[in-house]
Amino acid sequence: MKLPSIVWANQDSPYLLQYRDGFRLLRFSDGLEPSFRRYHGEVFLGRMRWGLLIAALLFLLFAGLDALSLPESVRRQTLFIRLGLIVPMLLLAWLATFSRLLRGSLQLISGACSLSCGLGIVGIIWVARVHEFPLPYEGIILATVFFYFLTGLRLLAAALCGWLTFLGYLLVEVSTGLPGAVLLYNLFFLATANVIGSVGGYFLEYAARQNFLAQGLLQEVAEKDALTGLFNRRAFAERAEAAWRQAQRDQQPVAVAMLDVDFFKRFNDLYGHAAGDEALRAVAQVLGRYARRPLDVVARYGGEEFVGFWYGLGEADIQQILEEARGEVERLGVAHARSDVAQVLTLSIGLAWQLPQAHQSLADALRLADVALYLAKEQGRNRLVGKRPGSSQVA
Ligand code: GH3
Ligand code: MG
Ligand code: MG
Repeated sequence: MKLPSIVWANQDSPYLLQYRDGFRLLRFSDGLEPSFRRYHGEVFLGRMRWGLLIAALLFLLFAGLDALSLPESVRRQTLFIRLGLIVPMLLLAWLATFSRLLRGSLQLISGACSLSCGLGIVGIIWVARVHEFPLPYEGIILATVFFYFLTGLRLLAAALCGWLTFLGYLLVEVSTGLPGAVLLYNLFFLATANVIGSVGGYFLEYAARQNFLAQGLLQEVAEKDALTGLFNRRAFAERAEAAWRQAQRDQQPVAVAMLDVDFFKRFNDLYGHAAGDEALRAVAQVLGRYARRPLDVVARYGGEEFVGFWYGLGEADIQQILEEARGEVERLGVAHARSDVAQVLTLSIGLAWQLPQAHQSLADALRLADVALYLAKEQGRNRLVGKRPGSSQVA
């Protein structure tokens, strides 16, 4: 698969790393696999839903055929398996696809249900063989095709259904004494159906995995800064705006901070642009650790400037957090011989803290944080200055 946008992605992107590592065994890294499974579940939900419904309808049709053509001795048990066991189970599984609560268990539910269909058909063949009625075995081939292409199961689960049904069929025919040559042919056809299903299912799942990675990469390219892996300014605006409105509704305090590397032009001039990039990545890595809650965001605002948004924290708390972040950047110990404030790379931080009122906007808070940052620079850099709307400096 060729992804033209790959050079624009953050080079540490898990999607990109996985794409480079490959996934020929249909398995992602432990970090990505769970989110792929959720994605797969969502993408194939429709197929699973239709598959279960179609299977139930087909079993009903076959029950009609049984009622017309099976001898009395076989009919009752066969109809019981079809109408009393399989169809209700398929309908229950179909209903389960509409439940949000069961969304995470649908592979298990659909898998168990599919396997029961396969074994149910095996059971019907067993009943027929015991009563010496020559029921065709091809229903199992239909079921096998169904496992791989209509259940919405991932390959491993589909193959498990296919081969366990194969095994069940083998046991029934051996125990009821189907002539060897016929059995051999039947098994050969059934095994072939499984092989074709496995190959087709492999390509299906491989393509689903490719799409998952491509989609994840595209989203990262759209939302993340390629150098640092932090959110970009646009993604920040989107997220912070939403959190700001929530804070307005819930009357929760918000903190907005602008964080700017000190004397970074001199750093570049002395150590070179590549070292500058590396330093920005290191700083970003530290800052990223300070926004872990769902409504907090830290982003690269542009150049050597970062921006952060924190939801629902008291003023003293956010000041302490930002002081820690500032100290941690200092303790990275990135040498900066031309800095006037320290021997190492440092950050100046402007903080705006407030309970957002209806007439106030995020843009106002950003302007205020910028003013605070300007003060931090003016007062000597490598420090935090906090402001509230309409107030003088508070920290
Ligand atoms: P101050 O302490 O007042 O913030 O001074 P400063 O030198 O950090 O500020 P100034 O705005 O004058 O310079 C910012 C520098 O950041 C200029 C630019 O070369 C550098 N810069 C911006 N983006 C990048 C980048 O992506 N990589 C590197 N290596 N440097 C960058
Ligand atoms: Mg700077
Ligand atoms: Mg700057």
